[in-house]
Amino acid sequence: MKEIQSRIQVGILGATGMVGQRFVELLADHPWFEIVALAASDRSAGQRYSDATRWVQSTPLPSRVAGMPVRPCVPDLPCRLVFSGLDSAVAGGLEEEFARAGHVVVSNSRNHRMDRDVPLIIPEVNPDHLDLVTRQRFGSGLIVTNPNCSVIGLVMALKPLADRWGLERVHVVMMQAISGAGYPGVASLDIVDNVIPFIGGEEEKVETEPRKILGRLGPDGVDLHSVKISAQCNRVAVVDGHTECVSVKLRAPASSGEIVDAFGAFRGAPQELGLPTAPEFPLVYLPDDRHPQPRLHRGLGRGMTVSVGRLRRCPLEDWKFALLSHNTVRGAAGCAVLIAELMLRRGFLEGR
Ligand code: NAP
Repeated sequence: MKEIQSRIQVGILGATGMVGQRFVELLADHPWFEIVALAASDRSAGQRYSDATRWVQSTPLPSRVAGMPVRPCVPDLPCRLVFSGLDSAVAGGLEEEFARAGHVVVSNSRNHRMDRDVPLIIPEVNPDHLDLVTRQRFGSGLIVTNPNCSVIGLVMALKPLADRWGLERVHVVMMQAISGAGYPGVASLDIVDNVIPFIGGEEEKVETEPRKILGRLGPDGVDLHSVKISAQCNRVAVVDGHTECVSVKLRAPASSGEIVDAFGAFRGAPQELGLPTAPEFPLVYLPDDRHPQPRLHRGLGRGMTVSVGRLRRCPLEDWKFALLSHNTVRGAAGCAVLIAELMLRRGFLEGR
C-alpha cells in the first residue's frame, strides 16, 4: 500500500461553480492534496477567485484560496491531478483535452461516465473498477468519473442488499435539492412554494448508471448488472440534500432486522484504508419514523454518510425505505476527493 510522503498538488476545473466551491472547501486543508490551480470559463479567467466567485457555502472562503488567480481552462496547469466540476455542456471535450495532455481528471460531469474504458466509481461500492483505466488511451493521462449525485446515495443503499440477497427491481421517487441545478439554478419564482416534476436527463441517468456501478468487471469491461430500475425525479424547495423513496424486489427472502443490520454493517475500501474523507459509517439507519430529513441529516459524517429510514413491507415489491444523501458533498465533490484518495493509496497517481 502506498505511503503518502508529501502533499500532491491539484487543480480544480469549474472552480467557481457549486461543485467547484465544494472542492475548494474540502481541499483547502486536505492532508494529502494542495490546491495550486483554479480554472473556469473566460468570464472568470484573470480575476481573483474571491472576485470571480459568488461564494455560497456556509463556511468562510479559505483565505489562501481567495487571492488565487482564476485561470482559463487550458491543459497547462502546474499539477497532474485535476478535479472537474465543469458544466456538462463543455466538460466532455475539455476533460479529454486535459487527459491527453497528461492530467489525471476526476470528474463529476456526466459526459464520460458510461464510456466503456472509464471507471464510474463509488469508493465503498466498486473500487475494483478503477482497473479500467489500464484500457484508456490518453497517454499518461486518465479520466475517472463519479456518478450522478442522486445515484450515489441510491447505490450505496442498494449495494448491501444486492450483495446479500440479489436485486431484481428498483422503483425510486426522488426529491432533489435546488443546488443540484448549479448556480444560479432554478429561478425562485419557479421553485418557492412548488415542486417541479421534471429534471432534464435525470431519470435516464438513474436508470442506467447503477447497472454499471453494480456490474462485474470482466475481461471486456464492466458487465452491467441485470437490475431493472424505474425512476421519477422531482425538484423540491430544499437547498442541499436529495431525498429518495425506494421500493426494491430482492432475489431471496429477507427480514427487516436483517436488512437494517446489513445497512449498518456496510463498509468499504475507504473505511478499511482509513482515507481522510471516508466517514466512519457510510450508511446509517435512523429508526424514527420521521427520519431522514435534509435539514437534520445531510451533514452526518461531514456530508459523506447516507441516511436511511422508514424500512417497511411494500405491497408491490418486497421492501420500501427512504434515504437522504448530500448532493454536493457525497453526491459530488466529496465522492470525487474520496476517489482521488483511493487512487493515491492504490498507486494510480504514479506516472505512466
Ligand atoms: P455550476 O454551478 O453551473 O458551475 C459550472 C462551472 O463550469 C463554473 O465554474 C463555470 O465557470 C464553469 N464553466 C462553464 N462554462 C465553461 C467553459 N466554457 N469553460 C470553462 N469552464 C466553464 O454547475 P455545478 O452544479 O457546479 O455542476 C458542475 C458539474 O457537476 C455539472 O456537470 C453537473 O452536472 C455535475 N454535478 C453537479 C452536482 C450538484 O449537486 N450541483 C452534483 C453532481 C454532479 P464560470 O463561473 O466562469 O462560468
